[in-house]
Amino acid sequence: MGVIAAKVTSLRVLKEKQFTRIHIGIVFDKLLMTIKIKVVTRKYYHCQVVNIISESDLVKRYIIKVPDEIPFSFNPGQFVMLDLPIDSKYTNRSYSIASPPSDDNTFELVISINPAGLGTPYLFHNITVGSFLKVSEVLGKFHLPYVIDTELCFICTGTGIAPFRSMLLNIHDKNIPHKNITMIFGNRFIKDILYYSEMEALQDKIQGFKFIPVLSRDNPEWQGRRGYVHPVYEELFADKRPAQFYLCGWAEMLHEARRRIEAMGYERMNIKFEIYD
Ligand SMILES: Cc1cc2nc3c(=O)[nH]c(=O)nc-3n(C[C@H](O)[C@H](O)[C@H](O)COP(=O)(O)OP(=O)(O)OC[C@H]3O[C@@H](n4cnc5c(N)ncnc54)[C@H](O)[C@@H]3O)c2cc1C
Repeated sequence: MGVIAAKVTSLRVLKEKQFTRIHIGIVFDKLLMTIKIKVVTRKYYHCQVVNIISESDLVKRYIIKVPDEIPFSFNPGQFVMLDLPIDSKYTNRSYSIASPPSDDNTFELVISINPAGLGTPYLFHNITVGSFLKVSEVLGKFHLPYVIDTELCFICTGTGIAPFRSMLLNIHDKNIPHKNITMIFGNRFIKDILYYSEMEALQDKIQGFKFIPVLSRDNPEWQGRRGYVHPVYEELFADKRPAQFYLCGWAEMLHEARRRIEAMGYERMNIKFEIYD
């Protein structure tokens, strides 16, 4: 089976601040000699960037406001797409929402620049406070169950912390019942640990929440865990007690983690993941 063509055009303007893009894919199934036409319509909103916080040269937090007249709700862990005016066949880039649901129609994205890419250099060099972005409706199935009745282990690196920050702040804000939650967060240097003080503080606010930053490079003053994330969950869950694993970040780390967690004896259904590439 192979996809012959995708994305035709962005069509109808529905409202001043909202439009719908229709993606048409033609799928040819060689075995069955059939052609299927797949149409995906996705709503986009013109949203204003109301604040930008530079975490470092490489990472920025974008606070974005959806127009008040547009109902905007999401399940923590979901993502949006930004449709960027870049010179590429694929102009959409996906970003996990890093904030919990709010009453003021704003949400946060935390984005690291890929200097060799097209989308993030555009964002970093062209988008300022007051700029507008085309933001898709909320997408994705990477979220917690409505009833959290199992221990959770979040494993992430870099901006892969985004969906977990949204989930954790939501659990805190809404006082959602839960079991123990461990978050293992891999980075290279201390300066790379996003939301460091916030996550440390959450340990005192969310019962049973443990935050374990892990650094892979030489940081002489670092008192915490060193190396990669993998030995940490292998050690903590060596007893194979019931747990649900949530992984988020770049493909290499995720595939390795999934392989190792399965090798520990956990079922594939106990491992959910959001791959960033
Ligand atoms: C669900 C999800 C959530 C994500 N959340 C975050 C986040 O919170 N923070 C963050 O920093 N990053 C996140 N990413 C990664 C982000 O979407 C971009 O890949 C990253 O920002 C680099 O974009 P770029 O345009 O600079 O790089 P580019 O190299 O220009 O593009 C990278 C991505 O664009 C798409 N793409 C570009 N060209 C093609 C092509 N020819 N064919 C098919 N696809 C193409 C692919 O998805 C590719 O991985 C997420 C990715 C996914 C899938």
